Amino acid sequence: MNVTRIYGILAHPVGHSLSPAMFNAAFAEMGINAKYEVFENLARGRKIFRLENSSPGYISGLSISLPYKESVIEFLDEVSEDVRAIGACNTVKIQNDDGDVKKIAIGFNTDWIGFMEALKEKIASVKNLNVIVLGAGGAARAIVYGLIKEGAKVVVLNRTVEKAAKIVKDFSKLCKGCETVPIQFGRLDEIENFKCDVLVQATSAGVGTEGIEESFVSEEFLQKNEPVVFDIIYKPLITPLLQMAIDNGCDIITGEKMLLNQAVKQFEIWFGEKAPKDVMNKELNKFIV
Ligand code: NAP
Repeated sequence: MNVTRIYGILAHPVGHSLSPAMFNAAFAEMGINAKYEVFENLARGRKIFRLENSSPGYISGLSISLPYKESVIEFLDEVSEDVRAIGACNTVKIQNDDGDVKKIAIGFNTDWIGFMEALKEKIASVKNLNVIVLGAGGAARAIVYGLIKEGAKVVVLNRTVEKAAKIVKDFSKLCKGCETVPIQFGRLDEIENFKCDVLVQATSAGVGTEGIEESFVSEEFLQKNEPVVFDIIYKPLITPLLQMAIDNGCDIITGEKMLLNQAVKQFEIWFGEKAPKDVMNKELNKFIV
């Protein structure tokens, strides 16, 4: 029997997600009999994992986004080492999805991989580079995890300094020859003697938008350090921070590159084969301005 397998994103709000377009294009390209849908609440997620053996299509995998990346973990049977370390899951693969045998839901985290892959398009290795990460939420945790695994020296700045300190504490065991330092938000140029090679904006407020004043990152800081500036927000694609970086001669990385690369890795986890990245990228770019 050739059953259409169901994949989807579990998020709230989920209306503007770009994942359905990317994955449905990938399924069509690869001739995979599957549909990618949207699911908005966790109760539905619980049903998916535990109860829906008799659903018309078989649910085989989920992308997990805000605000469920942490709360979904309790519904999973197994999680990867990355999920355990980061404390957040953005990918679920459901095994035994086509029979009466108990389903097994396994959690993975591809955010850190998506970030590192996007960064590597500009910088071959982050070993011993100095990186400043703004933010200490779920995305920042994944990013710092990837960076210190690969030997970068990371300073984490966050509005709530305790959360930055927790990242540093949680990942200190991973840190061999690297260092992580938590710092409260202030002006970046107050961090003396830290030549910044890469600046990552990973708060949900953004610099120069609702939350963080543009003066937080000074033009002098950008001119003096000439960092590669990576803003993980992708709406708009060129954020006020990235515009300031461009105006001051810095190289930039836009947020949709992380989105694309984390989705590519999800595809590979679900299907065990290489994703049609060009097709996914083309589809994504139809919606990005
Ligand atoms: P989250 O867990 O809710 O964390 C939000 C972070 O933003 C926290 O560090 C928070 O600081 C900070 N923040 C929020 N409002 C602020 C304000 N007004 N001033 C200063 N800091 C503020 O969210 P997340 O999962 O980390 O996601 C962060 C952003 O990244 C979201 O916009 C998300 O859409 C985006 N994202 C993009 C990708 C991608 O593929 N490009 C992947 C994942 C996430 P406190 O700790 O002080 O509250």
